[in-house]
Amino acid sequence: MDIDVNVIEQMVKKAIAQVSNEGNITCAPSAQQRGNYGVFDTMDGAIEASVIAQRQLLRSSMEERKIYVDAIRQAVLNRENLEMISLLSVEETQIGKYEHKIIKNRLAAQKTPGIEDLITEAQSGDNGLTLIEYCAFGVIGAITPTTNPTETIICNSISMIAGGNTVVFSPHPRATKVSHLLVTILNKALEEVGAPANMITTVKEPSIENTNAMCEHPKIRMLVATGGPSIVRKVMSTGKKAIGAGAGNPPVVVDETADIEKAAKDIIDGCSFDNNVPCIAEKEVFAVDQICDYLIHCMKLNGAYEMKDPAMIEKLDALVTNEKGAPKVEFVGKSAKHILGKLGITVGDEVRVIIMEVNKNHHLVTEEMMMPILPVVRCHDVDEAIEEAYVAENGNRHTAMMHSKNVDKLTKMAKLLETTIFVKNAPSYAGIGVGGEGHTTFTIAGPTGEGLTSARSFCRKRKCVMSDGLHIR
Ligand code: NAD
Repeated sequence: MDIDVNVIEQMVKKAIAQVSNEGNITCAPSAQQRGNYGVFDTMDGAIEASVIAQRQLLRSSMEERKIYVDAIRQAVLNRENLEMISLLSVEETQIGKYEHKIIKNRLAAQKTPGIEDLITEAQSGDNGLTLIEYCAFGVIGAITPTTNPTETIICNSISMIAGGNTVVFSPHPRATKVSHLLVTILNKALEEVGAPANMITTVKEPSIENTNAMCEHPKIRMLVATGGPSIVRKVMSTGKKAIGAGAGNPPVVVDETADIEKAAKDIIDGCSFDNNVPCIAEKEVFAVDQICDYLIHCMKLNGAYEMKDPAMIEKLDALVTNEKGAPKVEFVGKSAKHILGKLGITVGDEVRVIIMEVNKNHHLVTEEMMMPILPVVRCHDVDEAIEEAYVAENGNRHTAMMHSKNVDKLTKMAKLLETTIFVKNAPSYAGIGVGGEGHTTFTIAGPTGEGLTSARSFCRKRKCVMSDGLHIR
């Protein structure tokens, strides 16, 4: 991509200065408390403003809701905004790739469904007409991850507002600046189209304490957590309606019937996307012995660096893993070139993924590493590969991929793993609408069962009965 990083850096600095200045305004001067553009000193302030906004939103027509959603889309698609949030996201979190953040943010703006997702059910008969409509839940508290800080805010804001809700975000503290910048941009865009103020709010200093305050606040009617197991467990134990979009460890199976050249390219493309941080990205491969060598050969032709020395593989694992066995924060979302550089191995930018053959119990297989390290496990046959993929997925029921032309085995794997997303013969991102049919989301709710969330996931189903009339048969 042709970008002038210096120009964008200047733009980001300007935007941060703007956000900080606006954050200092404690007594909002403009109408409807718009002065802070959604960023509040306290969590309580952010929630109270959201309550007022939600009451106003309920009085808006569906056509107006559509205008608000379109304003969010346009604000993100504005080139300057898109570049600023993508660059600042990488700069602040030190996670992922600028070019891929651009793609992900654009995807969230373009392919998250709006009000068209709220399809009314009707039942008609001798006793009249009954409608079941998707209605607002109220004020939603949404917790967002470091790995997709802006993508999650964009897709949650579109879906939740389309559903008639307002949203209070509790971002990861390491993504504070970029979250503030985006919330500010979205509030300004919404103000320009005459939307109620503060439909999207957040707090000046995100923290675990502020997240806890949000979870416990009586005026928060629904909690949506996009992150690891700890925050998902937390929202599910609050006694409130909770949607949990949790961790994955997506395995890929490749059998002898697959188009191996294509499988190798798809796997490297999916695994290296945004330096492997997407929760759906390929994290380990189970390949049938018959094609395993050729698959590795083809992966190398597509930007994989193969590590063969067992001692070096252990050194790599020790480098990127903390004392608890989890990935070290400073290596999450870093490039293969950066990681190899730390081991004294110099490679070019064409190297996108580090691969190595290991056994099925290796730590790099069993742990969700979120960096472009892709262990390959050689299996006797496809049945063994499917069984081992099931074990590695670790019961997350999140995402899995298979490259095969054997319909029976594809069906077998899909049934056994029960993942929310199962991609056949494509990179993982086909599962969120890139090169695959269907909408996108960055909140994939496996644990609570909503699946790929959209406006209707954040709604209450309500029934409206007209007795003895309005049926026309
Ligand atoms: P994380 O769990 O460390 O943080 C996620 C959010 O939860 C952050 O805002 C964080 O501040 C908050 N949080 C975490 N633990 C908390 C606690 N005990 N109390 C209060 N707040 C808490 O995750 P991360 O590193 O930011 O993101 C990566 C993880 O998220 C991976 O496991 C990935 O698979 C998962 N993820 C899932 C989806 C999905 O749609 N299912 C999408 C993106 C990321």
